Amino acid sequence: MKIMVAVKRVVDYAVKIRVKPDKTGVETTNVKMSMNPFCEIALEEALRIRESGLAKEVVAVSVGPTQCADTLRTALAMGADRAVHVDAGTANVPPLSVAKILRALVQAEQPGLLILGKQAIDDDCNQTGQMVAGLLKWSQGTFASKVVLDKENQKATVEREVDGGIETICLDLPAVITTDLRLNQPRYATLPNIMKAKSKVIKKVTPEELNVELRPDIEIVQVTEPPKRKAGVILSSVDELIDKLKNEARVL
Ligand code: AMP
Repeated sequence: MKIMVAVKRVVDYAVKIRVKPDKTGVETTNVKMSMNPFCEIALEEALRIRESGLAKEVVAVSVGPTQCADTLRTALAMGADRAVHVDAGTANVPPLSVAKILRALVQAEQPGLLILGKQAIDDDCNQTGQMVAGLLKWSQGTFASKVVLDKENQKATVEREVDGGIETICLDLPAVITTDLRLNQPRYATLPNIMKAKSKVIKKVTPEELNVELRPDIEIVQVTEPPKRKAGVILSSVDELIDKLKNEARVL
């Protein structure tokens, strides 16, 4: 079985986000970019499945500008066998377009599993996995915190984190899985593997070659900083707190 993993290049989680002065988006010039943390978890899960002998190949895919090749090099250094870069230039590619691109790649590559992060930490959409599962008419296990494959019966048992606890579902393969934070601890790429990954070939395709039209179905009107939080106050007693909650905040 082949596993396809979608990895997105995003502003590094440790960077303090700055809004561009013209409020058209978030500043990305001279900003450290990395693989989306949930995508690292998705890749780690695919590598563990391959290492357990249940899959033969892990293919990493990224959609976006030329620099996505760096994210794919990281994926190769972590252990992916192959990488595909869908070069979308500088266009902002919304989740539905990414989902259509992934559908086209899935139809070409025929993986048994498509693993994605549950969300990208730049737009926090949490949509792509669900959309591609819908487009492919595949079963989906979102927010996975545990994945067990039964290759013989072509099934996957997925524990998923829902509001009230953990829900366990059984999926028919092929399926789409999106990863939650507690699924695993991704590995670091070692220096020798980083060096080896430099010489690996990354296949490049365009959305047009996959017959996907990049339609901007989301218009970003303005991006602004959240309002600054006001300083807190220290109260002298519980009675004062209750009084404030009742009469000022009006939550009691
Ligand atoms: P989102 O729906 O935008 O929150 O993204 C959820 C997941 O979809 C991400 O964690 C990735 O696995 C995948 N994804 C979204 N956008 C891209 C992209 N441009 N390239 C590769 N994977 C993506």
